[in-house]
Amino acid sequence: MITVEQIQAVLAKAFRESSHNYVSEQMALVPEDVGERLYDDPIVKIGSADDELWQELKRPEVVGHLFRAPKEWLASARCVVSYFAPFSDFVVEGNGRDAVEVSNGWLYARVEGQAFLTEMNHFLEEWFAEQGIEALSPYASEEFRYVFEAGTNDDIADKSLSFTSNWSERHVAYVCGQGTFGLSKGVITERGVAGRFGSVVVGAPLATTPRPYSDVYEYCTKCGACARQCPGLAISIAEGKSHPKCCSYVNEMRVRYAPRFGCGKCQVRVPCERGIPKK
Ligand code: SF4
Ligand code: SF4
Repeated sequence: MITVEQIQAVLAKAFRESSHNYVSEQMALVPEDVGERLYDDPIVKIGSADDELWQELKRPEVVGHLFRAPKEWLASARCVVSYFAPFSDFVVEGNGRDAVEVSNGWLYARVEGQAFLTEMNHFLEEWFAEQGIEALSPYASEEFRYVFEAGTNDDIADKSLSFTSNWSERHVAYVCGQGTFGLSKGVITERGVAGRFGSVVVGAPLATTPRPYSDVYEYCTKCGACARQCPGLAISIAEGKSHPKCCSYVNEMRVRYAPRFGCGKCQVRVPCERGIPKK
């Protein structure tokens, strides 16, 4: 039986060896960035495809009815492998140096880095296939679908579907035991909130990892540091995070840093940046 440690070791090796996890000469905005790493070794967790929380994610106030449970992606699904890819010190410390300017590292990690994570999702699909096991990455599949902002996507006739997707890596991470949500709506993991997630649905009954929390916001102290740092004024302790305000601000950054984009000030220089904050 394949273990979580085995998957973690295989994936960590791929993270270290893929040239796409490092700043190349072509993508570097300044020569001194060349060779810097984007993501540290990943943390892998495994959830059951039969977990009752998958149906909860379909509620409108969670992900929404577009969300497809693991077995709706892969009929043979028995579990879901979720990985957290922590941003490297180069990315996190760089973005913490200024309250507004988005660092080069954050821009690379957000754009080229996401392409690298999609590559890692396909890597996992292929690795499981080599073990004779079906696996599928919903996010990397052609069927992945999302709507970013309220009323802005003309392809979607039903505007109540706004800001939803048929697979949400953060919510999948929560179900699989990676961590709980914070006020900024990032997922606070044992390595903190600064990073991104990937996952594959797997057609084998691998041993699941524990989900050591019961409350959606259990790891967040509600300290408000992310709200105070948000340049888009998108977070408040009383009301949480406004996705439209965040999107609107990040869209401004798309113009400023084109063809890249980003912000992430709610994930750096905060108590949950690199771990679960102490209450
Ligand atoms: S900075 Fe504080 S309030 Fe914001 S997500 Fe982290 S722990 Fe929660
Ligand atoms: S990404 Fe930026 S604008 Fe959006 S919530 Fe975080 S700090 Fe605010």
